[in-house]
Amino acid sequence: MKTKNDKLEQVNLDCCPWCQSKRSEPWGRKVRGFVAVRCEDCDVVYIQNRLSIEGLSGYYANYLNEVHQSDKKKNTQRNHMYDLEYSLMSKFITSGKVLDVGCSNGAFLKVFEEEGFKCHGVEFGEAAAVEASKFFPVYYGEFPEIEIEEKFDVIIFRGVIEHVIDAKAYLKKAVSLLSPDGYLLITATPNRDSFSCNLYEEKWNQHYPEVHLLHLAERHLTVYLNEQGLKLLSEKYFYEETSYADPENDLLTVAEALKQKNNGEEITVPSPAFYKNMLTLIYQSS
Ligand SMILES: [Zn+2]
Repeated sequence: MKTKNDKLEQVNLDCCPWCQSKRSEPWGRKVRGFVAVRCEDCDVVYIQNRLSIEGLSGYYANYLNEVHQSDKKKNTQRNHMYDLEYSLMSKFITSGKVLDVGCSNGAFLKVFEEEGFKCHGVEFGEAAAVEASKFFPVYYGEFPEIEIEEKFDVIIFRGVIEHVIDAKAYLKKAVSLLSPDGYLLITATPNRDSFSCNLYEEKWNQHYPEVHLLHLAERHLTVYLNEQGLKLLSEKYFYEETSYADPENDLLTVAEALKQKNNGEEITVPSPAFYKNMLTLIYQSS
């Protein structure tokens, strides 16, 4: 099969990217040549033969135009998510300095700017970094390696932590840049503990192995962030209030998939948006 990653280099992991355990078992079926496994120690699901950093760079070079921002309907749905997420965040803080890590073209940051926050971004994709820097100061590169002198009241990982090679290094860096009582918002991230993740496995609509390198749950993030001195303030799973949800049809689709799985058949229809698919977590430094 001809896919766009034919030219992109892959690496084989010999241990879990979250806990470094070497014990893993197969998880789901191969997708476009990518193999997912479940860590038998921490239960994270990760791509065993993920794209290399060069491969990911190549992928993200076109990500902005090809995947992320091209579809008008998707942009409208995403803007609605921005409003929901901002409104949750604004229960805790309504002014200060924000750093959006993986800010893409800066669209989510604009919501904070309109509300009076002072905004900064970090972006790994070159085209996106150039676009965002028209509006905000943007640090370009791999977040853990960038020297940043200032501190922030809010640090955002929106749909980011599942994309990065060393998730703990990203989280640790964020913790080091939080001002006292600062907030860390992790949102729009696939939830490894969702019903759909476990039922559908590789047919889960969040299993996108070129760019989603690992599937984490709240329990993984909270244990690690507690060790770093953060506490969990809010745990939310947006679904019914989003424009992705069609609860009646989604329930019927999932019920059919469950029936197929229980009969030992392959699930034929990919997973819809569903309850608990996506996590939104807010932590605070103490
Ligand atoms: Zn592990």
